[in-house]
Amino acid sequence: EMSDVKKAVLAANAAYASDFGARGELGLPPARRFAVLTCMDARLDPAKYAGLREGDAHVIRNAGGRASDDAIRSLVISYKLLGTREWFVIHHTDCGMQLFDDATMSDLLASSLRTASYTTEGWKDEGGMGSEEGRYLRWLTFTDLEKSVVDDVARIRKHPLVPADIPIYGYYYDVRTGRLVEVSEATRAGQAKLQAEAG
Ligand code: ZN
Repeated sequence: EMSDVKKAVLAANAAYASDFGARGELGLPPARRFAVLTCMDARLDPAKYAGLREGDAHVIRNAGGRASDDAIRSLVISYKLLGTREWFVIHHTDCGMQLFDDATMSDLLASSLRTASYTTEGWKDEGGMGSEEGRYLRWLTFTDLEKSVVDDVARIRKHPLVPADIPIYGYYYDVRTGRLVEVSEATRAGQAKLQAEAG
């Protein structure tokens, strides 16, 4: 028996595909040659907030839009094999990654694998069967939004597999207004160097 969510997703997809048209002929490399690294938050729709159509750009998403090793893996593939030439790192206000830290998360997971609730006294877990495995992960939380953008742009900029001539722009998205706000310190940290100076 199909869940309501699954039914709705498949119905939406049938409607989408019925009008697919020329999008079936799109090439694999992103036509507008850029990539966006952003948070998985459900309120963010990069296609809408950045004006993307199918085939335009790479969008890499994870919790926080953090420059994790895996996000960098995708960015490296994005330029090396698929030709992107400019990158955006876009975090956002009211991010869930500001609501916990590594100790809290691993304690909650050690307590149970159920969904915890966020109360006025912080995170609460009903308990049951948990796992200690959470203690081995870095959850990449942050406390200062602008600093998290600066840190991630700087990490990508300094990565040995990232060429110096790709500019990296740092922004956050304001969930109250829908606007992108530039973090100028991040964009400065992400400035491209001419290929001649790179090295
Ligand atoms: Zn977020």
